[in-house]
Amino acid sequence: MTAALIDGRARAASLRAAVADQVAGFTARAGRAPGLAVVLVGEDPASSVYVRAKGKATAEAGMRGLEHRLPADTPEADLLALVDRLNADPSVDGILVQLPLPPHIDASRVTTRIDPDKDVDGFHPVNAGRLATGLPGFVPCTPLGCLMLLRGVRGHLSGLEAVVVGRSSIVGKPMAQLLIAESCTVTVAHSRTRDLADHLRRADIVVAAVGRPNMIRGEWLKPGATVIDVGINRTGTGLVGDVDFASAAQVAGAITPVPGGVGPMTIACLLRNTLMSAARREGVAIDLSLS
Ligand code: NAP
Repeated sequence: MTAALIDGRARAASLRAAVADQVAGFTARAGRAPGLAVVLVGEDPASSVYVRAKGKATAEAGMRGLEHRLPADTPEADLLALVDRLNADPSVDGILVQLPLPPHIDASRVTTRIDPDKDVDGFHPVNAGRLATGLPGFVPCTPLGCLMLLRGVRGHLSGLEAVVVGRSSIVGKPMAQLLIAESCTVTVAHSRTRDLADHLRRADIVVAAVGRPNMIRGEWLKPGATVIDVGINRTGTGLVGDVDFASAAQVAGAITPVPGGVGPMTIACLLRNTLMSAARREGVAIDLSLS
């Protein structure tokens, strides 16, 4: 292996420590802790694990976590009414409805019901629009975590060629927006891209967010590229990413492992967004460097 390993666990731990430090200062000044409400509908096992992890991380950061677990057959109207109550609750700074939702619920109706100024997931169209137009707002946690890892490896990203593989609203599109804002030259690839390898050969930065195990091969990469693997795929041999780690690590300059790369950054960025929300809502100054 020639690539340096990008240690997402260590980077996430230092971000969480910085957030906890700022939370203590916020709580002393505002007279209350930042509050994050997490809503889970149904009992999807992966979602339950994520919600538990978010609750634990919230408490460890000194924040108030409010967990709302609703049965799988909860009517959409009841979920929307809960979102309305959380929107109106002054002690709630962040609202997160865990996806996926059961099929009888329209996820986009729920996402757009969340007050954009409490939308710490950054999925509301208002926040997507703010990101696209360079206005301050909430940035989705996973791409934000990827950007932090990239800055940690490469420093300034200006002028670099970046290929984002995947165009979802949760990862690929906001990732591309963040890289454009960093003055990268950005290509977004997807399932209809004709020759992915041809694009990847030019890329100084590759962000893979596809959901197909080991799809991106080392031979396709530019030597020295920085590779961020967002994919989480459960296989018979355990969790693997979208990048074929064994071959990519022979060519890349730096690469994230799966697990232990992007995953831990997502929760750390959720805590960061919640603190930012609380600080904005209470008019308390905080100092959270992004780099
Ligand atoms: P998604 O909504 O399913 O989007 C996948 C994207 O990949 C789509 O844009 C799709 O193209 C594209 N794609 C599919 N096959 C392709 C191919 N052969 N070549 C190029 N592009 C292809 O997935 P997502 O929500 O963005 O998540 C992607 C992966 O990241 C999943 O493994 C997920 O579990 C993981 N994830 C991890 C975290 C974390 O915290 N680490 C967070 C979120 C997601 P089309 O648009 O043309 O269909």
